[in-house]
Amino acid sequence: MIPTIVLVGRPNVGKSTLFNRLTKTRDALVADLPGLTRDRHYGRGIGASQPYLVVDTGGFEPHTDSGILKAMAKQTLQAIDEADAIIFLVDGRQGVSPQDMEIANRLRRSKCPVLLAVNKTEGMQKAVVSADFHELGLGYPLSISSAHGEGVRDIVELALENFKEVEDEPVTDYTGDRIPKVAIVGRPNVGKSTLVNALLGEERVIAYDEPGTTRDSIHIDLEKNGKHYTLIDTAGVRKRGRVFEAIEKFSVIKTIQAIEEANVVILVVDAQEGITEQDAHVAAYILDAGRALVVAINKWDGLKEDERDWIKREIDRKLQFLDFAEFHYISALRKKGLPELFKSVDVAYKAAFAKLATPQLTRVLIDALQQHQPPISKGIRPKLRYAHQGGSNPPIVVIHGSHVDGVKDAYTRFLEKTFRRTFQLSGTPLRVEYKQGH
Ligand code: GDP
Ligand code: GDP
Repeated sequence: MIPTIVLVGRPNVGKSTLFNRLTKTRDALVADLPGLTRDRHYGRGIGASQPYLVVDTGGFEPHTDSGILKAMAKQTLQAIDEADAIIFLVDGRQGVSPQDMEIANRLRRSKCPVLLAVNKTEGMQKAVVSADFHELGLGYPLSISSAHGEGVRDIVELALENFKEVEDEPVTDYTGDRIPKVAIVGRPNVGKSTLVNALLGEERVIAYDEPGTTRDSIHIDLEKNGKHYTLIDTAGVRKRGRVFEAIEKFSVIKTIQAIEEANVVILVVDAQEGITEQDAHVAAYILDAGRALVVAINKWDGLKEDERDWIKREIDRKLQFLDFAEFHYISALRKKGLPELFKSVDVAYKAAFAKLATPQLTRVLIDALQQHQPPISKGIRPKLRYAHQGGSNPPIVVIHGSHVDGVKDAYTRFLEKTFRRTFQLSGTPLRVEYKQGH
């Protein structure tokens, strides 16, 4: 499981500044893709010894009369409960405030480790500033500056200390083939449960774990046309064939954990609601995580012609950055479009694990270079020489050359498109990375 670090603190202590610093680079890639609003609170942390999820709990308005905890959104309190580590930010220039005390009292009840970050301490006597904050009773205050990056890396590594990454062994079936892990994600009520049930049909179903907390998903063994899949079902608890009480609590962290664990993600969207901001944020996270993706536009039944045109325009406008993925217009309720959907899952899975040989990659690179040279940057034209594959799911193409720092994002995207087209990698993001040679 990818570790989750949750940023907590009263308004203006610097949470979103820290969030932006921790998630910046990839976000920048996504941010200039059209159709995506910038107001994200969930991001993939980078620049540490392992990937992690950062949650910024900002965005709540404190009411002076009712206390800050009441003002914290439900989602904030849920994020605190689901965290692996909490970074509690306070303002080193303002000292301890009553709101800090109130939050500290709540955090001391939390089961997970809390790191106390005294922010805005650039240019200040660290020992003097942080001395004040011992009274919060949350251990040693650590001085940082989110704006300048001081102490930020250290505090993240401390937060991750107990969560050293263990590579999952791929699960295989009796023939030795890997079993694809397919996560079904989407907002509440888009039709995930209905889709899971429709996929399972009369097939044998084994749910092989029960969720412990809201952030756990159910894993289901699915056999389709002689092939095995593991469905990662984020929809909640259900029992087939009888009435049950859904104790679902929508959890973004659960959704993100499922995305991280999966090979292929089915993103379910409600055609009757259009593309919401939350849909776009989840989609952006899938892209950040590099997962293969199939988009299911559900509840296609019962839509009139003009409504269908409208949703297609919505998709063009808001999900343009998913141009690598197949879109399917389905009805989970009427079981329409499901075989085609799963065909795309197979295609995406295959693409995610495609083997790309060095000679072919290099030939495609050289053809691309002949079409368009990388633009000159600071007076020097980057020189790209050869390419090899550096990973799978997503496929990573590593290009060796000189002055590679000067390659522009737009040029990288041109190369990504070229590789994807030539190798017919439909359904998976593809990453191009550079390695500086001489
Ligand atoms: P949030 O409400 O907790 O998300 O706080 P913001 O990240 O929006 O920051 C609030 C204000 O503090 C902004 O004006 C930031 O520029 C400023 N700020 C954030 N981090 C630092 C820091 O490390 N040093 C200084 N001097 N200012 C900071
Ligand atoms: P979940 O919260 O994403 O698991 O959503 P559910 O599967 O519980 O579905 C929410 C509601 O949407 C239920 O009332 C379903 O019957 C309905 N629904 C699901 N799929 C479809 C569909 O393809 N067409 C229509 N019209 N309704 C659907």
